[in-house]
Amino acid sequence: MWVLDPANSRELLDRLRPHSLSSDFEVVWCGEGWRALVGDCHDDLAAAFPDYRFYAIKQEWGVLAFQARPRAGEMTAEELARVHEITDSYGQASEVVCEWCGRPGSLRADRPEWLTLCDRCAQDLETTKYPRLRPIV
Ligand SMILES: [Zn+2]
Repeated sequence: MWVLDPANSRELLDRLRPHSLSSDFEVVWCGEGWRALVGDCHDDLAAAFPDYRFYAIKQEWGVLAFQARPRAGEMTAEELARVHEITDSYGQASEVVCEWCGRPGSLRADRPEWLTLCDRCAQDLETTKYPRLRPIV
């Protein structure tokens, strides 16, 4: 699926939920190929800032956008910069991982919606809504 939902990512969503700024957090708006990236980014943020909060985790302009802050309350500019350092590194990492299947991919900016995909998933998407490859992560 193009979302991480309770059916395909319950354990990850349960780990993320306490860190959501929104009380109605339900899904992560990216494909299953990025599940490991989302989980690792969460782990790094939680290690640096145990009370970190996110307001959105999604695909934006074809890459992973993990939008977070050090905590719900006040923060220093240095703390926020550290959060961005972590989340930016995962945004960059997502540029070479197929969002659908997790195999090596590249950013496809020649489509109406920019996506990072492997060759096979990009080819499938020309004719179908969901590529045929099964996610490997
Ligand atoms: Zn793929």
